Amino acid sequence: MTQIPEDAIKCLDKGFVRLVDSMGGDDAIVQAARVSYGKGTSKVSQDRGLIRYLMRHRHTTPFEMVEFKFHCKMPIFVARQWVRHRTANINEYSLRYSEARDEFYYPDPKHIQLQSALNKQGRAGKIPKKLTDKVIQYFKEISERSFEMYQELNEAGLARELIRAILPVNLYTEWYWKNDLHNLLHFISLRSDSHAQYEIRVFSDAMAESVQKVAPFAWEAYQDYVVQGMRFSRIEQSLLEKQLPPRVVDDILEDVAYQITATLHNNKPREETNLYPLYQKQGGSDSEDDFKLKWDSGEIELGNVRELREFKGKLESLKK
Ligand SMILES: Cc1cc2nc3c(=O)[nH]c(=O)nc-3n(C[C@H](O)[C@H](O)[C@H](O)COP(=O)(O)OP(=O)(O)OC[C@H]3O[C@@H](n4cnc5c(N)ncnc54)[C@H](O)[C@@H]3O)c2cc1C
Repeated sequence: MTQIPEDAIKCLDKGFVRLVDSMGGDDAIVQAARVSYGKGTSKVSQDRGLIRYLMRHRHTTPFEMVEFKFHCKMPIFVARQWVRHRTANINEYSLRYSEARDEFYYPDPKHIQLQSALNKQGRAGKIPKKLTDKVIQYFKEISERSFEMYQELNEAGLARELIRAILPVNLYTEWYWKNDLHNLLHFISLRSDSHAQYEIRVFSDAMAESVQKVAPFAWEAYQDYVVQGMRFSRIEQSLLEKQLPPRVVDDILEDVAYQITATLHNNKPREETNLYPLYQKQGGSDSEDDFKLKWDSGEIELGNVRELREFKGKLESLKK
């Protein structure tokens, strides 16, 4: 089994994630997207803006143009969860062919907790040191004893494909795992989530570091629209429509009109006299004097025109 390579991210006590190779990055996403949108489309002319648009609208195939190949070493019980992600290409260390190594996962005491009463798939709370010690002792006892038996049977010439079955699932395995960015982000969204088991989360977080480096715009868009974005169900929207006072929605719409005007002006500066009409065209309803006051305050934030218009549409639908 491979010891932790220098360029790898250490995970758990003996595991790691190492980016072996990658193909493409933000540029590959943009390149693929332009095949569908055309090179000269002015509204999506900025690479970052285009990537954000694609992520927002779940136009996912351009993200499949970026590939990642990782070398990973993890306990078998982590690999069992990992392997459920079917879109990856995997090549795993064979215990039919090679001998098992004496490498078992022993949890750090701070991760030894009680079964959570709230989350049936989780752990919570602190336990007495005596109990922690017992857990570690049991982990070690079963690992060492089973490995002694495995070695004895192996030396007696028994088939490795059979005798491996007496080894527990905290034994380390390793594999090459290749996936594209779209499916890798799907993996990360599920496995870096707080509901995922700690032991797989550390591997997912390690792979996320590579994504951040290889495709920083895509990673930023993923954070903004997937991780920290929010979607409302029909029931939730209907509650908002009923309970949100129209004047609150109107206030936000006003802010949006200012932001769109400021962003348009920032992208392509307008004559001073054209600013108020431009703001009115965006749905702004302040008087010209109020507009000037606010405009000169320097408090208007810039955004992305397309995104702000999409937001405006959502807000207007809440008023129906
Ligand atoms: C917190 C958590 C708890 C879980 N608990 C359990 C559990 O108790 N028991 C259990 O069995 N599993 C459990 N899982 C695993 C889970 O049900 C999924 O199998 C796993 O997360 C892989 O998700 P996926 O199918 O979306 O991913 P992938 O297999 O990577 O697929 C990616 C996407 O491709 C598409 N796709 C891939 N293959 C097919 C196909 N054959 N048909 C249709 N569409 C396909 C789907 O859109 C899918 O979302 C759990 C996962 C998490 C994150």
